Amino acid sequence: MVTRSTGSWYDVREIADGHIWQCRLKGKFKVLGLKVTNPIAVGDQVRFEVEDSNENFGIISEILPRENYVIRSSVHKTGHGHLIAANVDQAILIATLVFPKTSLGFIDRFLVAIETFRIPGVIIFNKLDLLSEEFYPFLQELMDLYSGLGYQCLATSAIEKEGLEEFEGLLKGKTSLLSGHSGVGKSTLVNVIAPTLDLRTQEVSSFANKGVHTTTFASMFELSEDTFIIDTPGIKELGLADMNAEEIAHSFPEMRALLNACKFNNCRHINEPGCAVKEHVQEGTIALSRYESYLSMVGGADNRK
Ligand code: GDP
Ligand code: ZN
Repeated sequence: MVTRSTGSWYDVREIADGHIWQCRLKGKFKVLGLKVTNPIAVGDQVRFEVEDSNENFGIISEILPRENYVIRSSVHKTGHGHLIAANVDQAILIATLVFPKTSLGFIDRFLVAIETFRIPGVIIFNKLDLLSEEFYPFLQELMDLYSGLGYQCLATSAIEKEGLEEFEGLLKGKTSLLSGHSGVGKSTLVNVIAPTLDLRTQEVSSFANKGVHTTTFASMFELSEDTFIIDTPGIKELGLADMNAEEIAHSFPEMRALLNACKFNNCRHINEPGCAVKEHVQEGTIALSRYESYLSMVGGADNRK
């Protein structure tokens, strides 16, 4: 399994004993069906040939089929994205309602992106200790909303050590992609459950002597033999760049459930008559905040055309 990438060198972890090899690719690898600039990402399973067993060098000869993958869309609209990770069991968003405030729009964009990658989503609301009592009903409402849509939710405090057993429990035995705005407590949370893993310092020091900017590549950390986390730098624009309204609606589970329920089968759920989605919003069975996120994403999609 590839645990680290610089774009030209890959750390490859041997499944049998966890031994780490430094591997390169020989020649050009074509990535069939994917518009990406890099052929391999952390989480990829590869076969390699030993080149030098004393130096732990190897040459990758094959990339095994992926269960899923995460792509960050290109900032430059070249049509090519950046492969962030492969074979991910779940994507966890760390969010905070205060200091800093994670917007619901951001949460929903994240969820839409991982829906398109078919990766289960989890939301962790951290910094519970900073919430004054008047926020509790709002937090509860959000947790009910998102868990009702199929996204597991958890409230934690890394400082007061609340919800940490549950956090460890949901990581156990899985490969999890971790993301969130900077400052939400991602590193603190990981460091309290795995004190020997210093997320931040490890990331900065790796490959430093090779002069490569590792920040564009995700890093994988081993919590235990069967538990891995993938830390993603700047995951803001996951994969939304070229989605149209229909694809966006399809990535909202509550709208997907209303497929063909609108009067017009090409309904964009904006101002068409007989729109089932808008009826549900009016009745309160689709959350207004979710619908507003949908509208802003569709508006963005229109502007890109
Ligand atoms: P990251 O950018 O997401 O990795 O965030 P950090 O882990 O660096 O945390 C940012 C700041 O928030 C630090 O000052 C942490 O001590 C603080 N912090 C992290 N988790 C909590 C928490 O649960 N409660 C409170 N009060 N502060 C926290
Ligand atoms: Zn509609």
